[in-house]
Amino acid sequence: MFIILMGPPGAGKGTQAEKLTKEFALIHVSTGDIFRNAVKEGTEMGKKAKEYMDKGELVPDEIVLGIVKERLSKPDCKAGVLLDGFPRTIEQAEALDEVLEDLKMKIDAVINIDVSEEELIARLTGRRVCRNCGATYHIKFNPPKVRNICDHCSGELYQRSDDTIDTVKERLNIYNKQTLPMVDYYERKGMYKSADGSREIDQVFADIAAYLQNKEDEI
Ligand code: ADP
Ligand code: ADP
Ligand code: ZN
Repeated sequence: MFIILMGPPGAGKGTQAEKLTKEFALIHVSTGDIFRNAVKEGTEMGKKAKEYMDKGELVPDEIVLGIVKERLSKPDCKAGVLLDGFPRTIEQAEALDEVLEDLKMKIDAVINIDVSEEELIARLTGRRVCRNCGATYHIKFNPPKVRNICDHCSGELYQRSDDTIDTVKERLNIYNKQTLPMVDYYERKGMYKSADGSREIDQVFADIAAYLQNKEDEI
C-alpha cells in the first residue's frame, strides 16, 4: 500500500504514522524527520533546510524533490510506504506523480487529519520529541511514563525549535495558503479521505485503520 498522510502542522500525522506503519507494515517516510536528521548531522543540506524550517517556511522544491525521489527509490519502499509531510503543494503533488510513474508505484489513499486551529496551537506548543528515535509526545495530551524520557528508547525529549507560538502561526498560514489547495487535487482523483482528528489518539487511529483495512482488502 502507498498512503499519503496529510493535515496541518500538529494534526497528529507523526503520532498516527507511528501506529499505522506498525499495523500495516509500511515504511514511514517523513520529510520533516529527514530534514531534522540532516540538521542534527550538520550536513550541507541540513544547514540549508534549517534556514527555512526556523522561519516556518517550506524548504525549496530543488532540495525536497531530490530527497523524496532518492528515498522512494530504495528497495525497502517496495513493501509499502506511508508518506508524512510530503507533498505539501500542488507542484510537489505533481512531481510525486511523475516519480511514482517512474518507479511503477501508485497512491492507494490520501488521508487528511482534520483539526481546528485552536487545538493545533495547543498541540504544537506542548509537543515534545525524542532526540534519539523521533517518537512524539505531548506534555498534557500524551505524556511519557517518566517526565522527559522516551517510553520506547529512554532517549531525552526536547521541544522543536519551530514549535514556538510565532513560528507555529506562520506554519499554519503557509499550510492554509500552499497545502490546503492540494485537497482539491486529490479529491478530483477520487482518492481523498478526511478523518476527524479532534478525537483521542486511539479513536483517530481506529478510524483510519478501518478505512485502510478496507482499502487493503480491495487491492
Ligand atoms: P509538522 O509535523 O509540524 O507538520 P514537519 O515535521 O512535517 O512539520 O515539517 C517541519 C518543517 O520541515 C516544515 O515547516 C518545513 O520547513 C520543512 N518541510 C517538511 N516537509 C516539507 C515539504 N514537503 N516541503 C517543504 N518543506 C518541508
Ligand atoms: P504532526 O506530525 O501532524 O505535526 P504530531 O503527531 O507531532 O503532529 O502531533 C502534534 C502534537 O499533538 C504532539 O504533541 C502529539 O502528542 C499531540 N497529539 C497527536 N494526536 C493527538 C490527539 N488525537 N489528541 C491530542 N493530542 C494529540
Ligand atoms: Zn525514543
